[in-house]
Amino acid sequence: MNYFYDFWDDFISLLFPRLCYACGNHLLRNENLICTECYVVIPRTNYHTDMDNPVAQLFWGRCMIERAAAFSYYNKGSRIRNLIHNLKYKGIREIGYELGRIYGLSLKSSGFTADIDLIIPVPLHPTKMRIRGFNQSEIISKGISDATGLAVDVKSLSRKTKSATQTKRSRYERWTNVEGIFQVIDPQTIMGRHILLVDDVITTGSTIESCTNELLNVKGVKVSVVALAFAVV
Ligand SMILES: [Zn+2]
Repeated sequence: MNYFYDFWDDFISLLFPRLCYACGNHLLRNENLICTECYVVIPRTNYHTDMDNPVAQLFWGRCMIERAAAFSYYNKGSRIRNLIHNLKYKGIREIGYELGRIYGLSLKSSGFTADIDLIIPVPLHPTKMRIRGFNQSEIISKGISDATGLAVDVKSLSRKTKSATQTKRSRYERWTNVEGIFQVIDPQTIMGRHILLVDDVITTGSTIESCTNELLNVKGVKVSVVALAFAVV
């Protein structure tokens, strides 16, 4: 019987090949979403083991962040970039969950999340949420949550107005563009908590800065930050 099912599997995969979302190569029967080679060669920053890493330095003198880290580097043509692209624009949510889970395991075992109370994903504007159907940072957060046991709070922080597309703007324009667009809905629920803010990619850090400033208005709140990738500019 098994032989028959294996044959059937092979036949189906000839018609509908299962490809790695990072490199495009064919997946083996025991592989899912990402091939073994990509798991191995996707570079890890290991920033979570170094408190003075480049992501943390990005916020120095800008806002008070306890700890900051990113899973990998966001370079043109990189495998992690392909994965995030497939997550955001092709709607392959399992990618965000899986990468979040893998990263969550490292964060937990290193002690990075030891004194964190809850996870808050960077909110997506409601209009964008309606078009995309999901918030990628929320999916990543669920993976981190399952690995660390920390709860995800998607209600306490919201996004107020739509910011125009940021890709063609200067760093200053981007900063002014996101300043004041986030809002804490219920300060009571996050008062005195250490929050892990989760984003997909950190580039200039302006979105994180804006979220953090809003969260820090609540008494006793501390903020740490993680993302799947850091775009070195
Ligand atoms: Zn691959």
